Amino acid sequence: MFSKNVLLKSTSLVALGALSILSTSCNDDDNKNSSPIGNGDPVMMVDPEPTTKVSWNYDDKGPAQWGGLSADFILCAEGLEQSPIDLIVSTIVKKGDDTALTFDYKTDAVLQAINNTHTNEFAVDKGSFVTFNGKKFQLAQFHGHAKSEHEIDGEQSPLELHFVHVSDDNELLVVGVLIDEGEENTNYTSFWTSENFLGTEAEKVDQLVSGTHDLTKLFPQDSPLYQYDGSLTTPPCSEGVNWNVLTTKITMSAAQLALFTDIFDNNYRPVQSLNEREVISTEENSDAVAQAIN
Ligand SMILES: [Zn+2]
Repeated sequence: MFSKNVLLKSTSLVALGALSILSTSCNDDDNKNSSPIGNGDPVMMVDPEPTTKVSWNYDDKGPAQWGGLSADFILCAEGLEQSPIDLIVSTIVKKGDDTALTFDYKTDAVLQAINNTHTNEFAVDKGSFVTFNGKKFQLAQFHGHAKSEHEIDGEQSPLELHFVHVSDDNELLVVGVLIDEGEENTNYTSFWTSENFLGTEAEKVDQLVSGTHDLTKLFPQDSPLYQYDGSLTTPPCSEGVNWNVLTTKITMSAAQLALFTDIFDNNYRPVQSLNEREVISTEENSDAVAQAIN
């Protein structure tokens, strides 16, 4: 579909955009990129090294303080289109457009496991995309929050994964997946293992994950979605993020959840005000369909 040159060029643009937009970690020590494959290797598209020097956390410099930590973080306090939000199902309008977001993920993706002291993240090699209203966004990485950041009717889940996508012009699209405790999730077992959950809340680690991984089964890609305009859920809380939260939750076993929560058990931002925004659902409105038929 793309020539190699075009793809490499767009990948480098995405990487730059991801660097500037997704600079979500503190960096007190000015380390150079320590990625084992990050220097000159075109496989990995996201430089895991954070760029902001203002430190923040989920504790004494937590979500209620973020907006005052730096002028660059002002949206965390004053933004009117912030994430996450409580998804109140009875207020969500069903518009039934299940073609708005389509997935084209790789079945043989290469991953890099990263603990950036704010979350455990898996950076993804190039070539996995979504198309949203005709625009293409490349999957850059996915990471977790415990408990979940989005709520559905006021309820949190033990874990939420964010699949972060970037377009060539640096627009962001995130797919949120809420995870409850239940059956072991065998779609994750190739990489969701103790070897890839290293470091602590104070210790950065990154390493290449062995093997290749099927990203197409990590969540049901045909699930209806809750869609709204929001923000990064970490400083600088930049707005203009296209949010798509699956209406369908998935499960992991208690042991799988513990791999994440043994390191991060409180790295979520509380829900923010909806303000003037509308949340829509891609689910069919069965009432409207019935009326149309009659
Ligand atoms: Zn996130």
